[in-house]
Amino acid sequence: MAPRTVGSEGIYVAAGALAVVATVGGIIAHRPYHATAWMIHAGGLAALVTGEALWWQQLAAGEDPTRSLADPAYLAGGVLMALSLALRVRETVAVRDVFASIDASIVALAGGVLAWVAVVEPLLGDPTVTTTDRIWSLAYPVVDVLLLAAVARLLCCTQGATPSTRMLSGGLLLFLGADLWFQVAERLGRYEEGAPVDLAFMLAYTVLGAAGVDASMAEQHHVTSVDSQIGRRRLMVLGIAALLPPMVLIAEVLGIEAPTKAALAGPAIATVVTFVLALLRMTSVVRSVETHTARAGEDRFEALVEHSSDVIGVVDKEGMIRYMSPAFRTALGREPDDHVNMALRSIAHPDDVSTLTTHLYQAATRPAHATSRFETRLLATDGSIREFEVVAANLVQNEVVDGLALTMRDITDRKALAAELSHQAFHDSLTGLANRALFADRVDHALHRRRRDPQCDVAVLFVDLDDFKAVNDGLGHGAGDALLRAVGERIVRCLRVGDTAARLGGDEFAVLLEDDRAPGEATTIANRILEALHVPVSVGDMDLGVVASIGVTVANSGSSTVGLLRDADIAMYEAKRTGKGRVCVFDPAMRDMASDRLSLQTDLSTAIESGNLRTVYQPIVDLQTGLVRGAEALSRWAHPDRGDIPPDVFIPIAEQTGLIVPMGEWTLRHACAEAAVTGGTVGVNVSGVQFAAPTFLATVADALEVAQLPPSRLTIEITETALMADTDATAVLLDHLRDVGVRIAIDDFGTGYCSLAYLQRFAVDIVKIDKAFVAELDGASKGDRLARTIMQMADSLDVTMVVAEGIETEAQLARLRDLGCRYGQGYLLSRPLERDAYRQLVAEHLVEARNAGAEVMAPVRTTLAEVPLPAPPPRLEDFMDVGRSGPAAGPAPASLADALDSSELGAMPGSLSSTH
Ligand code: C2E
Ligand code: MG
Ligand code: MG
Repeated sequence: MAPRTVGSEGIYVAAGALAVVATVGGIIAHRPYHATAWMIHAGGLAALVTGEALWWQQLAAGEDPTRSLADPAYLAGGVLMALSLALRVRETVAVRDVFASIDASIVALAGGVLAWVAVVEPLLGDPTVTTTDRIWSLAYPVVDVLLLAAVARLLCCTQGATPSTRMLSGGLLLFLGADLWFQVAERLGRYEEGAPVDLAFMLAYTVLGAAGVDASMAEQHHVTSVDSQIGRRRLMVLGIAALLPPMVLIAEVLGIEAPTKAALAGPAIATVVTFVLALLRMTSVVRSVETHTARAGEDRFEALVEHSSDVIGVVDKEGMIRYMSPAFRTALGREPDDHVNMALRSIAHPDDVSTLTTHLYQAATRPAHATSRFETRLLATDGSIREFEVVAANLVQNEVVDGLALTMRDITDRKALAAELSHQAFHDSLTGLANRALFADRVDHALHRRRRDPQCDVAVLFVDLDDFKAVNDGLGHGAGDALLRAVGERIVRCLRVGDTAARLGGDEFAVLLEDDRAPGEATTIANRILEALHVPVSVGDMDLGVVASIGVTVANSGSSTVGLLRDADIAMYEAKRTGKGRVCVFDPAMRDMASDRLSLQTDLSTAIESGNLRTVYQPIVDLQTGLVRGAEALSRWAHPDRGDIPPDVFIPIAEQTGLIVPMGEWTLRHACAEAAVTGGTVGVNVSGVQFAAPTFLATVADALEVAQLPPSRLTIEITETALMADTDATAVLLDHLRDVGVRIAIDDFGTGYCSLAYLQRFAVDIVKIDKAFVAELDGASKGDRLARTIMQMADSLDVTMVVAEGIETEAQLARLRDLGCRYGQGYLLSRPLERDAYRQLVAEHLVEARNAGAEVMAPVRTTLAEVPLPAPPPRLEDFMDVGRSGPAAGPAPASLADALDSSELGAMPGSLSSTH
């Protein structure tokens, strides 16, 4: 820095003064972060301008401005500006950056060498210069180097510098360059006013003024990190700066004139110092590589944490959030930063707050690094509840973490799926009610509670729909399902919140009633359910009233789950057995009956195979002629231990188990074969279950064909109730049977609930008056009326035959004859006969009929051996007359038939042999 001539001074002073005003204005307007530094800077500028003004004043006064007051002003300006820069650095973390200081020193040394060569060394070697002048002249390069060092130090720690910082450094560097240029020119005596260097000074002032007024001057000096890493540009500047002292040294040595010691001293010292500084700088490079490696590891770890789908977080010992990874935002819609210093429990589900606190406390008191695992529910910002599986590692001892490291996995969906699966495993998919497994479990728990508190009543209801099969078969499974759903809903509506309704399968429902109920309330609820079901349910375009049978059982102190369910089932069965559509409360006697039934059921399944089933024949007699017209085939079961079991007992069991179908077929085939051999007609009882089987028609046709029995000799006896089960289908089936020629009889006529009008829909040939009405005929006039009414009803059905059942007395016989009843069967006429006895009887009667010129239905075969009858083989021989001589070819040899045809049939015997 050196004074200049007067001509251009006015412009410098003006430019400098403007820069001062701009900077002060900037400080006032922008209130900068580095306010003090800027004020010192403004002071420095002002000192410079003062120097310029003093210099100008000296020149104007015609005096030599050198070695005036202008010198200290100029120097103070330089020092103040360097101080201002140092203060900026001090006010940032960059002050700790030792390597930036080294780099700045290298640059300053290079500048110093240039100043040495250009200014200092010539000054020292000039004997004409006075010592005072020499001191003042040397002060300028020293201050310049100081300012250069300050600028370099600032730039070394600046990344992403603001426009103001750029202009400040640029202006100062321009000023330093211009000043060096000026000093050299001045020393060589080449400086003239208005030289280009003046322009450089003016430009420098302008740029510095702009730096002071720009809005970015308000910002903090921008330091992104304390980093000793060397960028490419910095490396280039450092390289040039470090090379400068040795180059100057070499130039001096190789120069034209022999170098003086003084000329060598400066560059030599600078070279040595630069070398030492460069060595120091190398350690920073090594450290930088190490830091870089460490940082790479950290970065990887950070990337893992940042991108993990699990929420990773740190909470302190008190459960206050210290950190949450970005997944916190994804999982809960919460901003991680907003939650720092908030308690984790403050975002927990209210029910989980205390358990979460306990879990965190326990995790923090476990040994260092030990992990614990727990689940908790946290609240998302959208109001949803998310479930987390948390693994908490105790890192309280770790200085950096100083808390619990949490890895939280969102398991909401997993839990929901598990809940769905378990719901499916324990619920009926059709009705949504509990299934058998869950129901049993609930009963189990209820019984446990009852054991603790015997006041707690536990009752189980078993609900079974009556004739549900008819809905399923008649209206389709869709309708059946809709009905079951409606039934489920209605049952639930009759219950309290704590009760359980279940669907056990098919049309079976169950109800568990718990807690202090008044005695007998279970029955009341059962009746309420029955009533609720009675209200018709709309299924498709039909309204169906549902009838159910309900069994009720109440637990006692010794009840078990299995026992309770079984007892309710038994009671339900009893309700069905005793008329359906009713409620039955369990009684221990029912259990014996049920087990009895169960053992019969087991035995019955082997009855056919073990040959214990047989058929007997009860003759049906023409009451006018006394001749046997045919017989009704009746099944008999000779139980190996219990003796003969009546059909009233085993037929219902066979119907329930479905055994009735093979059993019925067996009877049908044997009866047809028998009629073919014996002659006459045969009536076979068919239950509703058989009738509903799709193979029924084919079975009948096949039995007739195999036996070669004319269809008109077979009568299918079906009860009124069975007829009503599925009226349309039944009507069609009956029509088919009649088309084939088979005759249809309504059995037990008068005992069902059907109206006459209803019965008229069916094509029926025979009506069999139930024995209950015949029994009424013994004298009393009421019975007479009843029998007459039944006879009239039968007549109006347009039937060809009326058969009275159960004739036991002569009086009944006489009355029936009087009433015009043509046919009858009963103990008076004959008990059901074993096959041989029956044959014998028919043979006699056929002869008689022939003689009397009556209708004769002679045998069509001579032997059963030709008829391929179904199993069982062992007993089959019993039915064969002539052993297994093989099937006879061609038409049956009519020996027996012929004999029968030619024999005489007498009047109806007064008594017939009986087996019953
Ligand atoms: P049902 O078809 O009305 O048969 C007549 C029943 O009255 C027979 O009883 C017969 O022995 C009995 N009976 C005949 N005469 C008299 C009498 O004078 N007084 C009295 N008190 N009873 C008399 P059984 O053989 O015990 O059969 C009972 C019922 O079992 C039958 O009534 C029939 O509905 C059913 N049943 C018998 N065998 C079969 C069969 O193979 N299949 C089917 N589905 N049902 C059968
Ligand atoms: Mg019958
Ligand atoms: Mg009958």
